Amino acid sequence: MSIKVIIAGPRGKMGREAVKLVEKEANFQLSAVLDRKHDGKQLRDIMDSHETAPVYSDLGTCLQSVEADVLIDLTVPEVGYTHTKMALEYGVCPVVGTTGFSQEQLIEIKELSEARKTGCIIAPNFALGAVLMMKFSKMAAKYFDDVEIIEMHHDQKLDAPSGTAIKTIEMISDVRKSKKQGHEDEKEILPGSRGAEVDGLRVHSVRLPGMVAHQQVMFGSTGQLLTLKHDSFHRESFMSGVKFSVESVLKLETLVYGLENLLD
Ligand code: NAP
Repeated sequence: MSIKVIIAGPRGKMGREAVKLVEKEANFQLSAVLDRKHDGKQLRDIMDSHETAPVYSDLGTCLQSVEADVLIDLTVPEVGYTHTKMALEYGVCPVVGTTGFSQEQLIEIKELSEARKTGCIIAPNFALGAVLMMKFSKMAAKYFDDVEIIEMHHDQKLDAPSGTAIKTIEMISDVRKSKKQGHEDEKEILPGSRGAEVDGLRVHSVRLPGMVAHQQVMFGSTGQLLTLKHDSFHRESFMSGVKFSVESVLKLETLVYGLENLLD
């Protein structure tokens, strides 16, 4: 039986790839899309697609009108948060790529997911290589106290640091013994030049046209530097993770935050 999917943000850079994925996968069926600007239209009226899915601007109306198993959200944090909670209330499993959720929001979503016994996946990065980079960073952090992150994204990205950088810092912080960083005499440092500090760790966010999603995690110690680097050159790189999440979320009854928690 095919998995019925709603996609929120279908005209976005990620949403377009998700529509293509659902069109391509024989066991996925597009029930509807959510688009704030095109209520009442058909998907093929708003973008290059041969799917005949209805377009809704309001998730509540959409969930009352079509059958769905999974909601893929690729929008903006405040909308993604509302969508995720509403989908859970309706027993529809959210697969969320939208980044920028707060810790409080994640806790609230986890509680709701468990109360409703409805699975939810929030993945700051769907690219398998990026998930491995985060896992390898966690391994390395046991042995290196000094670490800094440089993340680079396209210039339209709304949040900084990126969700991937924040997730990497959380994973590193789980195992990091010392929070000490390099010597810093504040008088000599131009404000901002050392990046942002998140949980005692420096993160530098670059935003430039031409980039997609790139991150380096740099571990330094006397006489050596270990750099773990991942590049997404195309948004298609995220779609195998979206497919895996759509297939996995139906088996869950809680929130899984980060695909590393589902691999092996
Ligand atoms: P994008 O191209 O700007 O697309 C965002 C989409 O959200 C558009 O369709 C936009 O529609 C819609 N939207 C914006 N504001 C809205 C609102 N107030 N209400 C309803 N819809 C709204 O962004 P993107 O590059 O596709 O990224 C989408 C999200 O995915 C971001 O949070 C990004 O950080 C994240 N992301 C995640 C991964 C991952 O692997 N997890 C990878 C890349 C990106 P309009 O045209 O109407 O504004």
